[in-house]
Amino acid sequence: MNIINDPQELQQHCLTWRRDGLRIGLVPTMGYLHDGHQALMRHARTLCDRLVVSIFLNPTQFGPGEDLDKYPHDPEGDKAKALACGTDLLFMPDPAAMYAANHATWIDVPDLGRHLCGARRPGHFRGVCTVVTKLFMLAQPEVAVFGRKDWQQLAILKRLVRDLNIPVDLVGHDIVREADGLALSSRNAYLTRDERAAAPAIRQGLVKLAEMVQKGERDPEVAKKFLRDEYAATLPMGTVDYIELVDPDDITPVAAVTGPVLAAVAVGMGRARLIDNILIEV
Ligand code: AMP
Repeated sequence: MNIINDPQELQQHCLTWRRDGLRIGLVPTMGYLHDGHQALMRHARTLCDRLVVSIFLNPTQFGPGEDLDKYPHDPEGDKAKALACGTDLLFMPDPAAMYAANHATWIDVPDLGRHLCGARRPGHFRGVCTVVTKLFMLAQPEVAVFGRKDWQQLAILKRLVRDLNIPVDLVGHDIVREADGLALSSRNAYLTRDERAAAPAIRQGLVKLAEMVQKGERDPEVAKKFLRDEYAATLPMGTVDYIELVDPDDITPVAAVTGPVLAAVAVGMGRARLIDNILIEV
């Protein structure tokens, strides 16, 4: 496995691979890798000839007061995990190499960022779209794999790739969970023992909500109130940031459940802000 810090060097490598007819796969991450990231890598590995994994804690997708400075990191552990999944090239740039001091170009998909995390984290998806576009230009992937844990992010990136005719296939991967249902996240490292013990209630509440909708509840307000009450009872140390039922493609709240709907939540637990979602087919 080759480890590269310099964006130009990455681009040269990947342009050469493409000229040789090799199919490049990309998995972008922010590091502190876990089994969820590794599942993405292993899946990408089956879809390409050369696997590029990026580890970049992208400063432009963090807002003031968010956890950019405290985000967990373990570069040596990450290298071993990427290697174990068959990564050919690990890209670990410094922020200064990715953003010139007078960087002035931004990519944004504002219509899909009006709700959920887009509403709660102003500028977040602009940072994500910009860095992912840069990674596409550098790594020249034909396929890139993203997790459905960040459903809104994947929906936004799919729209971006379609609207700008970027020649890459975006592949979604199911959410990888702990045995007790908690979605794996680098931010789970922030949880205290008590918070960790309570956190599976996030998923359990979503599953109950899905059952309720599948049994016939069509009013999103009723379903949302149910989950709010459920969390008040099962997650007393949690602070609900949002509970929403949205169209899975447009990420706009639904007035009534008439087709597939995404139930998405963000919950603050101590130092962590955890997100999860469930796709409900009716
Ligand atoms: P991050 O390092 O948090 O930016 O995540 C990098 C990629 O891994 C994104 O596409 C995430 O959606 C994905 N990912 C993170 N956690 C999980 C998980 N538990 N299951 C599936 N994909 C995940």
